Amino acid sequence: MTPQRRQACLAALGVDVYVRRPAPGATPAVPAAPAAATAVPVRAAAPQPVPPPAATDATSVGVAGLEWEPLEATVAGCTRCVLCQTRTRTVFGTGDRRARWMFIGEAPGADEDRQGEPFVGRAGQLLTSMIRAIGLRRENVYIANVLKCRPPGNRDPKPEEVAQCRGYLERQIELVEPSIVVAVGRIAAQNLLATDVPLARLRGRLHALGDRGWPVVVTYHPAYLLRSPGEKRKAWQDLLFARQQLAQLEAARSAAT
Ligand code: SF4
Repeated sequence: MTPQRRQACLAALGVDVYVRRPAPGATPAVPAAPAAATAVPVRAAAPQPVPPPAATDATSVGVAGLEWEPLEATVAGCTRCVLCQTRTRTVFGTGDRRARWMFIGEAPGADEDRQGEPFVGRAGQLLTSMIRAIGLRRENVYIANVLKCRPPGNRDPKPEEVAQCRGYLERQIELVEPSIVVAVGRIAAQNLLATDVPLARLRGRLHALGDRGWPVVVTYHPAYLLRSPGEKRKAWQDLLFARQQLAQLEAARSAAT
């Protein structure tokens, strides 16, 4: 399906479309109004908000068009942010590289950093159970993180780290071509969709990511569900919602071809 047709399908379903944040200093889409000719009193400039770091894309990190093996090798040798200094190993991604479902989390934790695989340990086991609950197996989906290296002490990823790593994830998504993406947890969802909207307001809606309009749904991180088991019911609702949206998207795609 062409990007235009995908966008049309998504628009017909009332989907919010998210695109990458523009680079600081990038030319705005709408030209600025010409400066007024009238002289005005000079005042001290108000403090300007600090723009978010520009997210990399596959081209800017040199992985545009790369296939899996060279992409993984590039990530393994990456030194684009300070996390390369403290990682044990990079955590690239795992699963079916042509999966219909792609799950994207935040960043590796201690277990993942040791083993080189995303979502291992107790949170990983719960994610695997969640995947099984919707009739899939872990090896039939693709799992990756926004960051490929562990933030020390499991602190939240910094915006500049996310920005530097973004191009790798972008290329992974292009290669998988998932029919649906599940953003796992607030940090993954907000970074993926480049938004500050709280998780509660991102849930229960279909979002579209980037120029290709990848369909994204949002749910809780399994580590949060381990701490708050009463929320598991909502995570189950999210997965049912994702399955329903996927069925609608595939029906719309079939009708369009
Ligand atoms: S987190 Fe990403 S950008 Fe930073 S060093 Fe690791 S692979 Fe490179």
